[in-house]
Amino acid sequence: MQSSLYPEQELKRRTLAWAVRLRVNPRVIRVQAMTRKWGSCTSAGTITLASDLAEASPKFQDFVIVHELIHLRVPTHGRLFKALMSLYVPGWRKLDIQRHTAPRSSRRRQPVRA
Ligand SMILES: [Zn+2]
Repeated sequence: MQSSLYPEQELKRRTLAWAVRLRVNPRVIRVQAMTRKWGSCTSAGTITLASDLAEASPKFQDFVIVHELIHLRVPTHGRLFKALMSLYVPGWRKLDIQRHTAPRSSRRRQPVRA
């Protein structure tokens, strides 16, 4: 079904749905052009997602979203982090390889926006 939401809103909505499921409470969810990463998370609770993620597969979107949301609880990529990833995104290890492919924005060599 075609969504009437803009892709960036769709990403935010998806992130909020996951936040409820994971019982975490991000303070701000931002979608913006990113050059080196698909997502980031600050200790203050700001989740930033690359706008290019809107064009990625839903499974990869979930992988990036869940990865960043888990960081609200678990700051490192240790055993607990990996266990939670396996619980919510089965097969995430395969997607982890894809994570190292930079967002398309960087390939277009767009200037980094603050
Ligand atoms: Zn991480």
